[in-house]
Amino acid sequence: MQVSDLKKAFTQKFGEKDIQLFFAPGRINLIGEHTDYNGGNVFPCAITKGTYALASGRSDRKVRLYSENMPESGVVEVSLDCLDYREEDGWVNYPKGMIYKLIEAGWDIPAGMDVLYYGNIPNGAGLSSSASMELVTGVMLEYLCDLRIDRVDLVKTGQKVENEYIGVNSGIMDQFAIGMGRSDHGILLDCHRLQYEYAPLHLHHYTLMIMNTNKERTLAGSKYNDRRSECEAALEDLKAGTGIEALGALGPEEFEKWKARIRNETAVRRARHAVYENDRTKKSLQRLKDGDLQGFGALMNASHVSLRDDYEVTGEELDTLVEAAWEQEGVLGARMTGAGFGGCAIALVETEKTEAFRRHVAAQYEAVIGYAPSIYEAKAGDGAKPITGEVVIE
Ligand code: ADP
Ligand code: MG
Repeated sequence: MQVSDLKKAFTQKFGEKDIQLFFAPGRINLIGEHTDYNGGNVFPCAITKGTYALASGRSDRKVRLYSENMPESGVVEVSLDCLDYREEDGWVNYPKGMIYKLIEAGWDIPAGMDVLYYGNIPNGAGLSSSASMELVTGVMLEYLCDLRIDRVDLVKTGQKVENEYIGVNSGIMDQFAIGMGRSDHGILLDCHRLQYEYAPLHLHHYTLMIMNTNKERTLAGSKYNDRRSECEAALEDLKAGTGIEALGALGPEEFEKWKARIRNETAVRRARHAVYENDRTKKSLQRLKDGDLQGFGALMNASHVSLRDDYEVTGEELDTLVEAAWEQEGVLGARMTGAGFGGCAIALVETEKTEAFRRHVAAQYEAVIGYAPSIYEAKAGDGAKPITGEVVIE
């Protein structure tokens, strides 16, 4: 798909108009899984794949929306005067929710717009196409309506859309990475204090690969809730007499000193993951600053093992991908990314060996699981932004 194709499609749907182009990336989490709700860090980066929006302002109050990814919906027309959530509106709720929440926050959106969306990230694969839709819509509104929205506020608005409008209980990582991403950098983020630090991702002759399980989406929600309550139980036991406020506030040494207080054996393992995984996010920052990719790869591997054995959120598909990656020469590290149970894994692979890597991982996965994974390159890209010059869509 080229921008010229998208412009043609826009003109077909909405007529000949001045078009502005906007982009918001998807994201991967490099390391720091299931740490956010334990008061710890995450370490995501925005990727160069994401969602494009072609837009043109209108003088009336109509908002007309079309997605190249959802052609069956046709052009959907809504009004700025009626932006309530409606289940039957499907994907349109994401852009509608962003407009709704910005108006609720007091921003002046005086007139409507025509918008054509196109995304090149898979939906529901854990690369956060939903937050990408939210943020591309946010940036588009900023420019069309001449709003000066602080970027972190825009990020928080995206999270509100997800939590309060769509009704998904997610943290701030996705919108933060997508709103604040920087090319060739990851972001170490403390989700509670919203303190963050950019880390250079100079991969030299290595490439980050995404491996999508292509597993049908399952209801991982209940297991996610179980993990949250198991960690809460561990924290309750640790709190008594120690004043420890969050698992993320504990270093490994302190954890080893206090862990006997946790009564339930499963809760010990869950807490151990939360503590050591958070520690790995800090070590990863240091490794990447030092240009120690080997060291970072070793932390990725340890993260996967901990998610597999202590946290138990990987499952056969993710384990098959990651274990196949580990078998390959030139792989510095591999781990699942996202909430787990399905979705994607990532690997840091010597660039010259990526073809052999693809072949081996795909063959191994298909032999064990029975269908093919999708494997592609991930580049750490910029956060949500307007696009003025030439752009090549991957
Ligand atoms: P994820 O964020 O992991 O990709 P979600 O279920 O949170 O999965 O979000 C996917 C939903 O976001 C899609 O079902 C669709 O409603 C919406 N969406 C994402 N990208 C697009 C797009 N390019 N066009 C239309 N809708 C999209
Ligand atoms: Mg999502």
